[in-house]
This record gives sequence, C-alpha cells and structure tokens, in this order.
Amino acid sequence: MHRRPILALVPALLAAAAALPAQAQDKVLNIYSARHYQTDEALYANFTKATGIRINRLDGREDELVERIRNEGTASPADILITVDAARLEVADSLGLFQPVKSPVLESRVPATLRTPTWFAFSTRARVIVYNKVALKREQVQSYADLAAPALKGQVCVRSGSHPYNLSLGAAMIAHDGEAKTEAWAKGLVANFARAPKGGDTDQIKAVAAGECGVTISNTYYLVRMMRSTKPEDQQTVNAIGIVWPNQSSWGTHVNVSGAGVLKHAPNRDAAVKFLEYLASDEAQGYFANGNNEWPVVKTATVANKELAALGSFKADQLPIGELAKTTTQAQKVFDRAGWK
Ligand code: FE
Repeated sequence: MHRRPILALVPALLAAAAALPAQAQDKVLNIYSARHYQTDEALYANFTKATGIRINRLDGREDELVERIRNEGTASPADILITVDAARLEVADSLGLFQPVKSPVLESRVPATLRTPTWFAFSTRARVIVYNKVALKREQVQSYADLAAPALKGQVCVRSGSHPYNLSLGAAMIAHDGEAKTEAWAKGLVANFARAPKGGDTDQIKAVAAGECGVTISNTYYLVRMMRSTKPEDQQTVNAIGIVWPNQSSWGTHVNVSGAGVLKHAPNRDAAVKFLEYLASDEAQGYFANGNNEWPVVKTATVANKELAALGSFKADQLPIGELAKTTTQAQKVFDRAGWK
C-alpha cells in the first residue's frame, strides 16, 4: 500500500545523498603553489569571496611539491598545482600528475597556443635581452643568436643553464632551429661568459648596469618590478640599461607562462575547475598584470600598469606552449654538453 510513496521518495533521497557530500566537498579547495608572489594573496581572497570556497594553500618549491604529490598518490588532498614556467608544468604533466579538463570557459578565454589538454597558462612573460648602454650598441644584441657572436667575448652574464627559464628558451630554439644549431649557440654563449652563472635574473640585470658584464637575458617582470621601484639604486640600474625584444626578424621573442592544472586525484574537482575558470576572469587576469607585472592571457582583460604598458608591443613566438615542453629535456642535454652549468 505504501509502496508508491516510498518509490517516489527514493530518487529524491538519492539526489539529496549525492548532493550533500558534493556540496561539503566544494566548500574547500587545496592548492599546492610554487608561485611566490605577495600579490597573489588578493587572487585567492577574491575567489573565496566570490564563491564561498575556502582555500587551503601549501606553498613550496616546485620539485618539493611534485615529490609530495607523487608520494601522497591517490590519498593526496591537493586539487591544484599552480606554478611558473612551461618546463616545470611539463615535468608535472609528464609524471601524469594532472587530469584532463574540458571547460568551455577556459577554451574560449585562454588562447589555444597557451593551453594543453591538462594545464592552462594564465599569464605570460617574455625573455628579453638587457644590455649596458655604454658597453654595447643596440644593433649588436638584436637576437639570442647575437649573444653567441665572438664579438661579445667576456660580455655575457646569465643565470644557470639548468634553470627552467633558460631550459624553456633552449627548448624553443630547438623547436625552431634544431638541436645542432642550438648546441652551437650554447657553446658560443658559454665562450662569451663574463663569469660563471650565479644568481637570478635580477642579479644579472644589476651586474649589467654595474658594468660587470655587457649583456644578459631576463624575464620581463623583473625589469618592470625594477622600473616601478622607488629605490634610487633601482632607478640607476634602469637608467643604465637598454631592453631589446629578441628575434623580431625571425621567430619572435620567447614567451613563457605561469599556469595551473587540476591534479589527477583531486578530491574537490568541481571547485578546482571553478578556480581555473576564475583565474581566466577579467578580475583575476588584472591581478597578474597589475600585481606581478605579467601580461594577461585573456585579450579583453585590462592592464592598469603603466610601466608594463611602457614596454610596448612586440612579435612573440607563436609556438604552442605545450610543444615547447616537448624539447625541454633535450635542451638540458644540449646545455650540459655546452658546459652551461
Ligand atoms: Fe621568476
């Protein structure tokens, strides 16, 4: 007699049962982050404000986070890995740490060359040439290839050849010019070193400004950060240097990214996808540009950063970012053989 009402209730109960844990899950998002920029705090805070999803963040070095995710395996609480440089994202991807994400929002907002089936770029930075205006003429340093010319002997300062920023540049060169040409370039570069590689991009810029060397390669956000600095020594540095967009008459300036992906065993998958979609929103894109001096990937996002805007426009390498990642390991071998430590 009471069969019908019970049967009618079952689907409702099942739906309720299914909805409850899902809702509980979606209240939280666990992010492993190897981005180390103060200004990212606003990104996370505004996501929570907009969605009610609380973020637990674990900050660490990329290799430590990757190791941790591997060790945690299926029990990993991590939903998202966010980091910088395609070379690093590729390491995580090649270890199978990410899961594919299909999202119409991400597909429409992130250009095809700046995403892969598993991870997405949310900001870009260019790797440019920085030279001392007294020591060198602009015409001498128009391309990456120029830095290996015998005329620049003793003039080059650059960070380690094992650093992802340089590995990604090497990977782009291999993709465009082939391995042999890239190796010859790396050997020429090493032969031009003013000193053994040490420090980060900012240290190289300072060494160039101080006349310790004539030229280096740097990511753009380090330059913009210095341009925005009110410290007199930073202003002196900026005044002593010139910035060149390399390879404007060939394949363009190498561009890298910061990016993120949803992890394979993410317990809060829906919240994780929501977070990636949020990173592609105009608001979040603005934070990348205004906070960390990177360019937004979304065309409609506005940049209210006059120093970044002052860099102007340039011809960027159009190699899809996922392609770049394929030759990164090869780049390390090439640099090792060339003695770029
Ligand atoms: Fe950096």
